[in-house]
Amino acid sequence: MTAPLLPHVAGGAHLAPATARSAPVYDPATGAVTARVPLADATDVRRVLDDAAAAAPAWAERSASDRAQVLFRFRERCLADQDTLAHLISAEHGKVLADARGELLRGLEVIEFACGIPHLMKGEFSDQVSRGIDMHSLRQPLGVVACITPFNFPAMVPMWMLGPALATGNCVVLKPSERDPSCPVRLAELWTEAGGPPGTFNVLHGDKAAVDALLTDPVVQAVSFVGSTPVAQYVHETAARHGKRVQAMGGAKNHCVVLPDADLAMVTDALMGAAYGSAGERCMAISVAVAVGDAMADALVAALADRVRALTIGAPTVGDPMMGPVVTADHKARIAGHIADGAAAGATLVVDGRAHPMAQGAGFFLGGTLFDHVTPAMSIYQEEIFGPVLCVVRVGSAEEALALCDAHRYGNGVAVFTRSGGAARDFAHRVRCGMVGINVAIPVPLAFYSFGGWKASAFADHNQHGMDGVRFFTRVKTVTTRWPEGTAGASFTMPVLR
Ligand code: NAD
Repeated sequence: MTAPLLPHVAGGAHLAPATARSAPVYDPATGAVTARVPLADATDVRRVLDDAAAAAPAWAERSASDRAQVLFRFRERCLADQDTLAHLISAEHGKVLADARGELLRGLEVIEFACGIPHLMKGEFSDQVSRGIDMHSLRQPLGVVACITPFNFPAMVPMWMLGPALATGNCVVLKPSERDPSCPVRLAELWTEAGGPPGTFNVLHGDKAAVDALLTDPVVQAVSFVGSTPVAQYVHETAARHGKRVQAMGGAKNHCVVLPDADLAMVTDALMGAAYGSAGERCMAISVAVAVGDAMADALVAALADRVRALTIGAPTVGDPMMGPVVTADHKARIAGHIADGAAAGATLVVDGRAHPMAQGAGFFLGGTLFDHVTPAMSIYQEEIFGPVLCVVRVGSAEEALALCDAHRYGNGVAVFTRSGGAARDFAHRVRCGMVGINVAIPVPLAFYSFGGWKASAFADHNQHGMDGVRFFTRVKTVTTRWPEGTAGASFTMPVLR
């Protein structure tokens, strides 16, 4: 049986691709090709952008309350369809069903936040800034915006962007990851079912060629990107060079600092979920545990080793495994290569996920891997592995741990585990990182805060969602008003307030 070719979505309907290029989409649990995703050519890009551009003026002219009604209905549709959406995510990404459902609900929290857009878009007003003169500012949509998303959250990350972009009155062209494209197609169908006007939410499948077209086309006013750091940097530079507003979130190497007074059972539980949940394919996964003092390091490694060996691994939609496969065979080989590099560099390979029985079959499974005695010079410490691999680094003091976090080129998330309020407060205040957890390993900000890293983890002036999302997808206009009730005559000097 040949795998079906997925459609683009444009103008509120499926759009048969014009391109002859396509790529396989896999079920990572079996290795089978389950669909093919079109890789857009110039004709596809033009058709989708034209549909979005045609829809933009009318959508922008609707009242914010009216747009919010569509978002309310979209949320209801997504909730009613959550089993289908979660299965689509698990079947192409490989994360376990409960995690897929969790990602969807976290994404919907951003839609819920965006339902408050009449309040969120309010401008400012100053009465009598000068005699008989008032001043007000307002926010207006940009027009057509491109949203380019990674494979690891095929529902949540698109919703980070869809919520504020659509609510503020923009038309979206979503270019989802080509590795798990089916959930985004379903989201666009649900938007249409919810009464979203044709052309407001479009899905364009593709690879670098499609991204390059979006980064350079004059119709696109802004680009919101989430993905790996090299691509984020490229997107940031290219889109900016073409005069576009751009936010580009990149990769991560999140550290968890474990101080000697931390609660060992609590840290162990937290690290198991944060390092191995979703097979480590989360930008907020913890991939480095920094243990302060050998006593804590020995206890932590001993506690983790048994738990990592006991991880239950299996097909994400069968039973209730803790971990599913990684996304593709290529990615599995890349992770295995990192594990080999770490062992060759002299780190202690406490548990080797390559040896897990599930790792020997046709699916893209790996067991959990635990390294001890990792040093900052090693590539497994420096590079983002994006798999179920946890590196333990031993340091002598809290100050050394902080310096390590700060010296790393990534600065997405960081956590500290301690019973000392003073130590935690000092760490959170001084660390150079965008999102900090105190006894919380994955400190993902809720929808009404904003999400974003520092250093090489983000190339942007605005974070994702929260008020930053509203600001990113709107531009400010400031209006100065005077009514013709008497004139003081022509003035030839700069007006001053006094
Ligand atoms: P990726 O960079 O390979 O792909 C992201 C998007 O860019 C995809 O839509 C892809 O088609 C496109 N793309 C890939 N290569 C390109 C190129 N050369 N030119 C133009 N476009 C290109 O990322 P991924 O592997 O899908 O996702 C995992 C990465 O995303 C990790 O690095 C992870 O840390 C990061 N991530 C970051 C955040 C965050 O908010 N900081 C959130 C989720 C994921």
